Amino acid sequence: MSVVDNLAKIDQKIEQACKNSGRSKNEITLIAVTKYVTTERAQEALEAGIKHLGENRKEGLLEKYEEIGDQATWHFIGSLQSRKVKDVIGQVSMIHSLDRKSLAKEINKRANCPVPCFIQVNISEEESKHGLAASEVESFIEVLSHYQNVKVVGLMTMAPHTDDEEKLRGVFRQLRALRDRIRDKGYRHAPCEYLSMGMSNDFALAIEEGATHIRLGSSLVGE
Ligand SMILES: *Cc1c(COP(=O)(O)O)cnc(C)c1O
Repeated sequence: MSVVDNLAKIDQKIEQACKNSGRSKNEITLIAVTKYVTTERAQEALEAGIKHLGENRKEGLLEKYEEIGDQATWHFIGSLQSRKVKDVIGQVSMIHSLDRKSLAKEINKRANCPVPCFIQVNISEEESKHGLAASEVESFIEVLSHYQNVKVVGLMTMAPHTDDEEKLRGVFRQLRALRDRIRDKGYRHAPCEYLSMGMSNDFALAIEEGATHIRLGSSLVGE
């Protein structure tokens, strides 16, 4: 399927989810996750009108950035090794996977202006997933006030792989409640307005539960 065809279906689902929850489509940033696909396919996504691309590895990001450059807004969505920060910091607009102090320290050192970051939270506490436990997030955010080039714009999670709708909604609601609590504290370094949640399998539910950034790979740019 072409990206245009995939996008048409996804757009309908986004609209329906917005309608169901009384939200506006303008609140949702659609990120095409291009980690599985070629640079040509990523370019096809841009031609279809998608502006945000997500990669989870330094190599994939740099390979595509070489061709596409700043025609796209780049999101780093995977676990990021501190030693690779210097290689991607000039290319990415947002980092969705901030999960430890050593990474914040490196971002702070390498960036020359505040980098919008999401803190990755392992709401479902699956061993296989990265991210802080929900109970660790608030103290972590307080530590981050020392790093002036790290700006916490929101929280990110990956929901468990399941079709259990109530379970998925439960995860999204917990992330949202945590976001609300942090946002209401009014930290200057952590406005924490956004929620990066929702992938191919669960994005409609994520939108109904408040997602502002959805990250779609297989359903959008998959063949
Ligand atoms: C791969 C990936 C996605 C996209 O997954 P799909 O199920 O293909 O939509 C989203 N977020 C992260 C962090 C990923 O690694």
